[in-house]
Amino acid sequence: MTEPFDAVDVIRTKRDNRVLSDAQIDWVIDAYTRGVVAEEQMSALAMAVFLNGMNRHEIARWAQAMINSGERMNFQSLPRPTADKHSTGGVGDKITLPLAPLVAVFDVAVPQLSGRGLGHTGGTLDKLESIRGWQAYISNEQIYRQLGTGSGAIICAAGAGLAPADKKLYALRDITATVDCIPLIATSIMSKKIAEGTNALVLDVKVGSGAFMKNIDDARALANTMVDLGHDAGVNTVALLTDMSVPLGLTVGNALEVRESVEVLAGGGPADVVELTIALAREMLAAAGRPDADVEAALKDGRAMDKWREMIGEQGGDPDAPLPVATHQHHVVAQEDGILSDLDALKVGTASWRLGAGRARKEDPVQAGAGIEIFARPGDRVVKGQTLLTLHTDTPERFPRALESLEGTLEISQVASPARDSVVLERIAR
Ligand code: URA
Repeated sequence: MTEPFDAVDVIRTKRDNRVLSDAQIDWVIDAYTRGVVAEEQMSALAMAVFLNGMNRHEIARWAQAMINSGERMNFQSLPRPTADKHSTGGVGDKITLPLAPLVAVFDVAVPQLSGRGLGHTGGTLDKLESIRGWQAYISNEQIYRQLGTGSGAIICAAGAGLAPADKKLYALRDITATVDCIPLIATSIMSKKIAEGTNALVLDVKVGSGAFMKNIDDARALANTMVDLGHDAGVNTVALLTDMSVPLGLTVGNALEVRESVEVLAGGGPADVVELTIALAREMLAAAGRPDADVEAALKDGRAMDKWREMIGEQGGDPDAPLPVATHQHHVVAQEDGILSDLDALKVGTASWRLGAGRARKEDPVQAGAGIEIFARPGDRVVKGQTLLTLHTDTPERFPRALESLEGTLEISQVASPARDSVVLERIAR
């Protein structure tokens, strides 16, 4: 086949800070997916985009080209509207687990096609795999069945057919220092979400040390770009900017986070996890046409828990099976009396990863029981000798490296610092 463009010309266009044409974008994404544009050429183009950016039209076209690289799911024939949530990733972010069944209580289908953790942020599938029997890989037929006539919620692995261009490009960006680029992040996330075929989408864009976006201005720019992409594609899209300077909740790690999610579904759980679950559920339900749903009642009266049990059972999981517990524990205690003044999300996430809860390479296994339990949060008064954190692992030789990554956090001060009011910082909608 004769190719209509030369990759070198496309790279040169962006290198020289000129606008890529629709035809150039369509071709380069398609030709890269087919293997005609070489990895080194795409690396150069990604770096040119990283340095010179893309305008709104280029971003929309890039996303569309990535969607066109694979299959598209279509939920229009389901008897229920669909609403999905995407989080840009954080430490202790287990919200998908209570959120999906909670929203499904109100007859809104939740297709949560999720990924695995890489680096310091945990992956939803890794967490759920700590439940005995639970299966992440589900056929498209079962996805439609579960959403249409089953529990209405599914959390499973995204099939290889959705936006295959992104799979290649994301792996390439990971090794070419081009991940933290707003046009590339926005098109990567939104191409998968739009290809997934949801009617409504709520984005949880994290801000702070444990997030991709370290400051609110970058988070706002990313959220605006993604909300625009969603609207341009006909998906009702809203974003919340949420705090990720400290971990969410009191647990970080796979089985530990499942345990905490079940506490939330039983009407308890840490205040910040409950607050964010409720805020995101309200947004998803409003975007799907159910603005009056009483989500707090569904958490308190057991309906969300019943949905969870049904959803887990549909995917082969036993919701009553005991969760794995790591074989070794190490307690980190307060060195003096005072007020805990910081608990850095990135440091805690890195420690949990080093304990075995996360992976360094895609193919690495994770330990279900590894992670960290948190017993004091910033603003809490603590006394010398009190346990602040308990570290869990099956491989105790990991403790020293995990403790190293906690250096410089868990500061204790003698003056009270203002506690965080709300985990939700800002809302972005059109
Ligand atoms: N998550 C994605 O799916 N893509 C990115 O580029 C970053 C985070």
